[in-house]
Amino acid sequence: MAVPFRRTSKTKKRMRRTHLKKSVNAMTSCPKCGETIMPHRACTKCGYYKGKEVIKGQEEKEEETK
Ligand SMILES: [Zn+2]
Repeated sequence: MAVPFRRTSKTKKRMRRTHLKKSVNAMTSCPKCGETIMPHRACTKCGYYKGKEVIKGQEEKEEETK
C-alpha cells in the first residue's frame, strides 16, 4: 500500500479545505408579507403559498404572539 512521503502541513491542509465550505440555504421572500422563506414551501408567517391561504389561521396566531 502506498504511504504518503511527507506529512501534509497545516497550511497545505487548510489551503485544500478552503473549497470545502457550508453552502447557505436558498431563500426567497414571501410575496405577501415579505418574510424570508424557503422556496416551494408555504410561508410560516402568513400561511400563504402561490397566492392562496394553505395554513388556516396563521395570520391570527402571529397577531396574538405580538
Ligand atoms: Zn408570508
